[in-house]
Amino acid sequence: MDNTLHIIGGGMAGSEAAWQAANAGVQVVIHEMRPKVETFAHRTGNLAEMVCSNSFRSDDDEQNAVGLLHWEMRAANGLIMGMADRHRLPAGGALAVDRDPFSESVTQALMDHPNVRVEYGEITELPTTGHWIIATGPLTSDKLGAAIQRETGSERLAFFDAIAPIVYADSIDMSVAWEQSRYDKGETEAERKAYINCPMTKPQYEAFIDAVLASDKTEFHEGETAGYFDGCLPIEVMAERGRETLRHGPMKPVGLTNANDPANKPYAVVQLRRDNALGTLYNIVGFQTKMKYGPQSSVFRMIPGLENANFARLGGIHRNTFLNSPTLLDDQMRLRSRPNIRFAGQVTGVEGYVESAAMGLLAGRLAAAEILGKPLQTAPQDTAMGALIHHITGGAEAKTFQPMNVNFGLFRPLDGLRGGRKGRKDRYKGYTDRAKEAFSQWLESQS
Ligand SMILES: Cc1cc2nc3c(=O)[nH]c(=O)nc-3n(C[C@H](O)[C@H](O)[C@H](O)COP(=O)(O)OP(=O)(O)OC[C@H]3O[C@@H](n4cnc5c(N)ncnc54)[C@H](O)[C@@H]3O)c2cc1C
Repeated sequence: MDNTLHIIGGGMAGSEAAWQAANAGVQVVIHEMRPKVETFAHRTGNLAEMVCSNSFRSDDDEQNAVGLLHWEMRAANGLIMGMADRHRLPAGGALAVDRDPFSESVTQALMDHPNVRVEYGEITELPTTGHWIIATGPLTSDKLGAAIQRETGSERLAFFDAIAPIVYADSIDMSVAWEQSRYDKGETEAERKAYINCPMTKPQYEAFIDAVLASDKTEFHEGETAGYFDGCLPIEVMAERGRETLRHGPMKPVGLTNANDPANKPYAVVQLRRDNALGTLYNIVGFQTKMKYGPQSSVFRMIPGLENANFARLGGIHRNTFLNSPTLLDDQMRLRSRPNIRFAGQVTGVEGYVESAAMGLLAGRLAAAEILGKPLQTAPQDTAMGALIHHITGGAEAKTFQPMNVNFGLFRPLDGLRGGRKGRKDRYKGYTDRAKEAFSQWLESQS
């Protein structure tokens, strides 16, 4: 097999993957469709264009999971972080970036690299031979999307995400909420208690509906068609159809008895479902929404039991092409049915510039190691990069898989540290210390 690594898509992930593989000594070709074929969100022909906000979010590598990902990418000589640092703008604790010089310098660095070539043009079919990484992002071109679907089956490549808010389990008040599956369904005790339920009285329900209806909503971007209506209506659209619609939909109270107050039948119930194997994250069932982030937190904290909820991520609905990675990819990011093809970036079901670039870094290193005949273990689970890859290729619930940001809920708990809000600072420091050590060892194993 030809030892060139071909990368489709020169965005955050493809650019980083190319840089890592080229630095390892592999010849790389990046196939980028822009500017010949455009997307509704990109404006330039540059590699690694930031399509919307100019922020890489928190740069705190002790108390924040994104900041930790920054740290890991810097430690691994990441191109995206290197150029983000070079073109940093003042933004307090966040890493904001001067977007045009940033993407121009990523492009230039790759153009100048002796092992990298950039070919402009759309790839429309899945390659049959050679080493490939597909990093075509949330706006993967329609033709390539169709080719991927022919390989994976149509139900395993989505074109929209419909994300319900995700809550840290330890921030749910269990003196109000209780565990129970509707009608106690399930073979095992764990199945019969698979959901966390939050009860509402009539006045609480009415106030909640008022708040949902009054909240600010995000509009779809121009050119982003609203093809999301099948089976995943935003809760505000349901509420607009009638004040009782939610109570007969995701908030129906039937088949449930409040274990904290069995004599009183709730008027409505909000259910949360386990979102990862660790049991640290729960999603609010059926609560996909286009409400803006600000109002979302306050509206969802009106739900009894969630007054102090800590959100691992808020809800949203976006145009977003992504794989059902838990069923399709192995932990080396290879397509199980065609192991010569890896996927990286947002198309794997991570979300955001930083997470996408991190998945590119990992895919680039894994692909280069394989080509050079020095197989490499994927990043350790206790690192931020490893927590993400373990989530999307194994830890996440495949049936309800939706894109994920990096967050501490993806990390294995640390023994002996205090839970809840009070222990948070020590716990986060514990996670980041453990991650830095594991990541450094992983890097050393490659030198
Ligand atoms: C409208 C919108 C707003 C967003 N806002 C934010 C935000 O504010 N903050 C944030 O962190 N994230 C945001 N995201 C998500 C962000 O786009 C991604 O996290 C990040 O850019 C993903 O990196 P990537 O490399 O996977 O994909 P991209 O950066 O999108 O790169 C994919 C590349 O593949 C190319 N491509 C696609 N199909 C083909 C093909 N068939 N052949 C060749 N090339 C192809 C594209 O032209 C593109 O250059 C937004 C996404 C969208 C769609």
